[in-house]
Amino acid sequence: MQLALRIYLAVSLVLIATSEAIAVPFALGLGMSLQRKTPANVPQIARDKYNEGMASYRSNEYATAEKQFIEASKMIPSWEWPHQMLSSVYGGLKRNQDAWREAKIALHLDTEDEGAWLDLVGAYLHSMHIEKAIQLGNEYLKRFPKGKYCTQIKQQIVLANRELERRKELGVTRFDPDNYLPFATEGGQLIWNHFPLKVYIADARGVKGFDKSYSSMLPDALNEWQNGTSGIISFTIVTTPENCDIDCAWTDNPADLGNPGEGGECVTTRGASGFLEHARVRILTRSKTHDPTTAMLKAVCLHEVGHALGIRGHSDDCRDAMDSFASDNMQIAGLTCRDLRTVCRLYVKDPPAAKIICGAPKLYANKRYGTPAAPLTDAYYTQPYPDSSYKTQPN
Ligand SMILES: [Zn+2]
Repeated sequence: MQLALRIYLAVSLVLIATSEAIAVPFALGLGMSLQRKTPANVPQIARDKYNEGMASYRSNEYATAEKQFIEASKMIPSWEWPHQMLSSVYGGLKRNQDAWREAKIALHLDTEDEGAWLDLVGAYLHSMHIEKAIQLGNEYLKRFPKGKYCTQIKQQIVLANRELERRKELGVTRFDPDNYLPFATEGGQLIWNHFPLKVYIADARGVKGFDKSYSSMLPDALNEWQNGTSGIISFTIVTTPENCDIDCAWTDNPADLGNPGEGGECVTTRGASGFLEHARVRILTRSKTHDPTTAMLKAVCLHEVGHALGIRGHSDDCRDAMDSFASDNMQIAGLTCRDLRTVCRLYVKDPPAAKIICGAPKLYANKRYGTPAAPLTDAYYTQPYPDSSYKTQPN
């Protein structure tokens, strides 16, 4: 989880660039303790079930893995491993509450397992129980002063404290189920003054690691933002880069990105008028350490387009596309109601709360911004928000 927003000044005083990307490095919270050996006192049948779960997990069959780990945990309720893995599975499915519940059970079953501590700290962070993560991290450091995860946990605590500080500055005291506008406008509002935005997507032939099936990912990402906002946001694809508003390209070279450790990047430029003038989106097909999964690439495309639309910071809910975290084990990628409400609020001045997108989107298909796109699909209306984990602290 890359909690901090990086902003740097570009070449001249008029221009401000925000460089944003999804980072992989903090995926270290969940599932760190996969390498341990199976305890000898666990019956073979349970071990087999657990191993089946591991095979499913490794081939990204999360629904099957979930069932197998649940079965294994029922066979030997006092065995922590299936719970640790369930926590990883739920993390990939963005079921945060389930992820921290399972991580908590695992730690409860074996408080001497340092990996279980790290998992739970990560699970708390991913579900934005920041104070809880700090408290648990400090408990770990006290209990295992020379523990093998001291460095990681200290790192997590630093990030978590920074995030708390940032929230204080933004005046965010609680989770807002409607939108994450304070984070989106961090550093000041930065928006376009016209729609549709002209988007150029460079030919990706010859880019290493680029599969033909990726060709639709960026157009799909644009469509998802456009359709989801009922046309408040709109795009037209152009065939030459000259005079385009957003230029997009796939790259196999991490050095094309401001931070080579990230999966993608959007650099926005503010014009003399004060509005956005240009956005440059780069999506990385591969990194030094691994090839990203399709779900992750899709998430990166949606995410970077969100920045190109003027969302400067990151969401405080890891289920949103504009969360700063993506990992290889993510299973789903898509915009949430909250992403859509946030971007609408950037462009529509006085929308009645919660009605912008999930309520009466047609009202806001503002003629100024061109032809409204197709109405929202049912999925947007029925997406559950928020879940109760945000209202009550875990105990
Ligand atoms: Zn970002």
